[in-house]
Amino acid sequence: MDQATKKYFEALMWPGDGFLLLDLLDRPAWMRDAACRDHPELDFHPGRGVDTRPLRKVCGACPVQKQCLDYVMKLEGTHAEGFWAGLSARERRRLRRHRNPAA
Ligand code: SF4
Repeated sequence: MDQATKKYFEALMWPGDGFLLLDLLDRPAWMRDAACRDHPELDFHPGRGVDTRPLRKVCGACPVQKQCLDYVMKLEGTHAEGFWAGLSARERRRLRRHRNPAA
């Protein structure tokens, strides 16, 4: 059983964390194909100064990178933190400004 599936069943068996359960049930279908699911050893919320090359490599080969980027660009706040679609939160802010200079 992979890590993502294990977490899913843990949330179902111990639904004390309602947010996690709802979050899992509410996830878009493309997340099932996310390459990061196969890399539980990588932290996609890296701290400052952490080498992000392994994350960029996984995202670069991910079959749903475009869907991931579209999804995260619509998110705001804490959900939008971390490393998504091969980009850090800072890089996505820069991309957002580039796409929408008036904002
Ligand atoms: S592109 Fe998104 S879904 Fe794919 S590996 Fe990177 S963070 Fe995960």
